[in-house]
Amino acid sequence: MNEKIFFVSAEVYPFAKVGGLADVAGALPKALSILGADVSVIMPYYGDVQEKARDFQIKPAEIRGVPIVVGDNVENFDLYSAKLPDSQVPIYFVKSEKYFDRKGIYFDPETKKDFPDQAERLIFFAKAVLESASALKFKPDILHTNDHHTSILPAYLKITHRHHPIWRNTATVLTIHNLAYQGIFPPETMDLMGLGEEFFYPEGPFEFYGNVNFLKIGIFFADAVNTVSPTYATEIQTPEYGNKLDGVLRSVSHKVFGIINGVDYSVWDPSVDENIEYKYSIDDLSGKRMMKSVVLRQFELPEELDIPLIGMIGRMADQKGFDLVAEILPELMKKDVKMVILGSGDPRYEKMFKDAQKKYPKKLSVYTGFNGPLAHKIEAGADMFLMPSRFEPCGLNQMYSLRYGTVPIVRKTGGLADTVIDVDEKPNVGTGFVFSEYSPQALLDTINRALMHFSERKEWRKIIIRGMKQDFSWEVSAKKYLELYRKVKEMKG
Ligand code: ADP
Repeated sequence: MNEKIFFVSAEVYPFAKVGGLADVAGALPKALSILGADVSVIMPYYGDVQEKARDFQIKPAEIRGVPIVVGDNVENFDLYSAKLPDSQVPIYFVKSEKYFDRKGIYFDPETKKDFPDQAERLIFFAKAVLESASALKFKPDILHTNDHHTSILPAYLKITHRHHPIWRNTATVLTIHNLAYQGIFPPETMDLMGLGEEFFYPEGPFEFYGNVNFLKIGIFFADAVNTVSPTYATEIQTPEYGNKLDGVLRSVSHKVFGIINGVDYSVWDPSVDENIEYKYSIDDLSGKRMMKSVVLRQFELPEELDIPLIGMIGRMADQKGFDLVAEILPELMKKDVKMVILGSGDPRYEKMFKDAQKKYPKKLSVYTGFNGPLAHKIEAGADMFLMPSRFEPCGLNQMYSLRYGTVPIVRKTGGLADTVIDVDEKPNVGTGFVFSEYSPQALLDTINRALMHFSERKEWRKIIIRGMKQDFSWEVSAKKYLELYRKVKEMKG
């Protein structure tokens, strides 16, 4: 029988995207559906999404005015629906004037501060998900929740909805896309959730150093927990990478798994990419060189095509290793290289790199802000892609880079360790350059190795081609998710 899956996410590409979670939520359900699963997706109906309702053909789903209790308040929601693009997969949107009719997904884009009612919004959404399935008469075999935004759902299934006719046989999966974001809120949040104080006691599933931790709740109550790469699944069970939840994760290690994310090659492949002016493929790489011109021009750098161009894209957060890059910049800029950076986030990093750009106007150019099409162009036009992450649950950009013939330089952690093979360590199969120690020197040495190989044009081409041949398509990963779903169903009995 085909599995019925209800896939819950706070972001889904192309409707709303902050990071990799959106890419996964937009692609995995489609891949599951192609394999025969009956999957529906649900997310909040943010103001930004409503503005694009017409483009996405979002329509009312004829479910209106469903009351939800959050603390002492009752708020209604309406359900809207559409299809994930290029598929028959239904996606539902929870509309609430009070909680979602505003700009921004997690924080106010004006002030860059988290929404003060964030816990309420997430609780409202979780409860709306429970009611939506009832209203839609959708009885899922699997409720697949993602990250802390939706990870309190497994607790409701185990506590308040244990005997509910829709939910009593549903198994829950929690995918952790990033353990660093846990959803930590004050103890009063227990009242908002509608669960009494008796559930809140030291070291219990709801308590985390005096506060409530949504991710911990999910880890405790979900029937299976997985992360987005096998290496990260192991790493998060150690104090170094565990973000204070390693003990909890170790205590449930029998239900912790790792499945690498796939790539949506209908969006991220240089032979079909709608965001790049010149398409190319393994058979003819000339478009890549032309894209290098496009990128250099757009970033207002001299069009010197034989000088290696290093690209970097990402949230400007401590996680991504921008501090290492800042430290090596003076040395790096002495070399015959150019660098383009696209990123937004921590204002400290934004300023740091904007200042650096002024120092090296012919070599370094920085775009601060979120710009989807520009990300595609950089992937196409750069020669190398830098991802020196402190930790990396999966990482998508290194996989995109491989497909675009842009040789990744990565730190050996999480999904980066699982997807890039070092050229010097394994000359016949190497696809990029990998370093272990989180230090400026290790990064610089590794870039130097890459630059040496770049100067051997024939050999470099072989590295590019090997990378472009790598296949991280969703089909492989979706099959692993189906296996996981079957396993949890069996475990649940
Ligand atoms: P994370 O989920 O930790 O942010 P990933 O590498 O898994 O990192 O995914 C990041 C996604 O967001 C990629 O699709 C990347 O291209 C995109 N992205 C990140 N920052 C920007 C930006 N400033 N502009 C455009 N796209 C960005």
